[in-house]
Amino acid sequence: MQSEKFPIVFAGHVDHGKSTIIGRLLSETGSLPEGKLEAIKNYCRLNSRPFEYAFLIDALKDEQSQGITIDTARVFFSTKKRDFVIIDAPGHIEFLKNMVTGASRAEAAVLVIAADEGVQENSRRHGYMLSILGIKQIVVLVNKMDLAGYSEEIFNRIKTEYTEFLSEIGIKPLGFVPVSGLNGVNISTKSSETPWYDGKTLYGFLDLFKAKEPSTKQPFRMFLQDIYRFTESGDNRRIYAGTVSSGTLNEGDEIVFSPSGKKSRILSIESFNTPHKTSVESGFTAGFTLTEQIYATRGELISKAGETAPEIASEFKAAVFWLGNDPLSPERSYFIKVGTARTTLRLKKITKLLDTSSLESRSGDKVGKFEAAECIFEAGKPLSFDTIGENQETGRFVIVSDYEIRGGGIILEPLSEASSVREVTAEERERRFGHKAAAIVVRDENFAAELEKNLFSLGAFVCYFPDYDLTSNPHEIRTMLKSGMLVLIKSGDDSLKDAKNKQSSDLIKLYEIKSGSVEAAVRELRENGILSL
Ligand code: GDP
Repeated sequence: MQSEKFPIVFAGHVDHGKSTIIGRLLSETGSLPEGKLEAIKNYCRLNSRPFEYAFLIDALKDEQSQGITIDTARVFFSTKKRDFVIIDAPGHIEFLKNMVTGASRAEAAVLVIAADEGVQENSRRHGYMLSILGIKQIVVLVNKMDLAGYSEEIFNRIKTEYTEFLSEIGIKPLGFVPVSGLNGVNISTKSSETPWYDGKTLYGFLDLFKAKEPSTKQPFRMFLQDIYRFTESGDNRRIYAGTVSSGTLNEGDEIVFSPSGKKSRILSIESFNTPHKTSVESGFTAGFTLTEQIYATRGELISKAGETAPEIASEFKAAVFWLGNDPLSPERSYFIKVGTARTTLRLKKITKLLDTSSLESRSGDKVGKFEAAECIFEAGKPLSFDTIGENQETGRFVIVSDYEIRGGGIILEPLSEASSVREVTAEERERRFGHKAAAIVVRDENFAAELEKNLFSLGAFVCYFPDYDLTSNPHEIRTMLKSGMLVLIKSGDDSLKDAKNKQSSDLIKLYEIKSGSVEAAVRELRENGILSL
């Protein structure tokens, strides 16, 4: 049994049966407080109302003061394999808001569609939201099958229609289950009502959900929250504190603050109220001291030197979901929060405006409530972040206006590098291309062409320049080397000698191949640390 509870959301159109299914699931997995079910049943009998599992959810919510199994919007249950927490049990608008703002993070979703009403606006909108939020593990329940006479045909029709919609937004559901929350059909046990269905029950699918890859494997990221000073006995060390979004940090690591580009090395890791640690990983709140005090400000994104650097830009492309009553407009100024960074934000352009239910593009220069759009934004100062494809934690933001969160989004692409921003480093190019930049001198033309082909097929950024006059064009070679290229040059002895003499002044690193065969030359480049492909 995993110790962490697996977070899932139940989504779908109002009244399609989410609460009923959750109530049923809690009851059938024995996850309810003792006597709760009987008490509600009794209450219904006394008041001559039919029993509904949805009442259970309401009753549980009322009981949070007793601290039994629920806080405002969280319900827990367990299968044999693991513990689950349902975040945002049906809460309609709040549900969307929490999802957009990242207040809740689900790893999987159960989407409920009622068989009698079929695919509705919210079925699509919620599906779209899940895709924007990167929740790809989805099971679709076609509920109220009792009202559809347990018809295989109706089930298949909904399945086809919704599968088509999901594929447009890049989601491939784990499966579709015909259920009746009311009658407990295919929730935790297979029912004879649907003999034509040979798939899993909801319960069966829950155990198929996979926990996400631990983000400890990703490059290290931590937004600087604050800097504290020791006050004891004249110690003027500073503790840089924050929560680790991804990766691992060890004592001795060299770190970089972005966007300022300042660098230093970790002297000690200071974890709070726990024994001393020499390393800290994603999910933990921690602080550290540095070998060299530097001035950094809240909101800077800390990464490790040598790992992929975060993006820095003040202009970027993003997908947003808007919640505010007043539309998102280029005429107003907003605030953006990315991690702990906060600055002003302006909408520059809407590149795509989507109706979240039909997924059809429409034109317009404002994003209305509950609409989604692809936009270009400009922040008041350079921000540091990752694109959502690179990092789920540091690739999202919220938009604030009048102290309220009005929208949220994910960053798709940085568009500008502000002038204060550092250049791409030689190390970054080296990591991307799998080799250092070098001017490699070979004697024979055929050999050069063959070596170029060989290196190219390995994935190298390589180019052979036949008859290149080394001595007269050092500037051009420098330009090529700056781009990270492996430059192959054929050269006679004399010009080579000349170039070598010039080398110290022009800082061109010439490498002369010694090997006789192309295979040996590739090996030689590897052995000399030029090639890592
Ligand atoms: P929610 O808004 O999605 O949470 O929907 P509820 O769970 O509150 O259900 C809405 C209504 O549909 C309630 O009156 C339920 O009793 C009813 N309902 C839920 N599931 C079923 C079902 O499988 N069959 C039938 N006939 N009614 C259902």
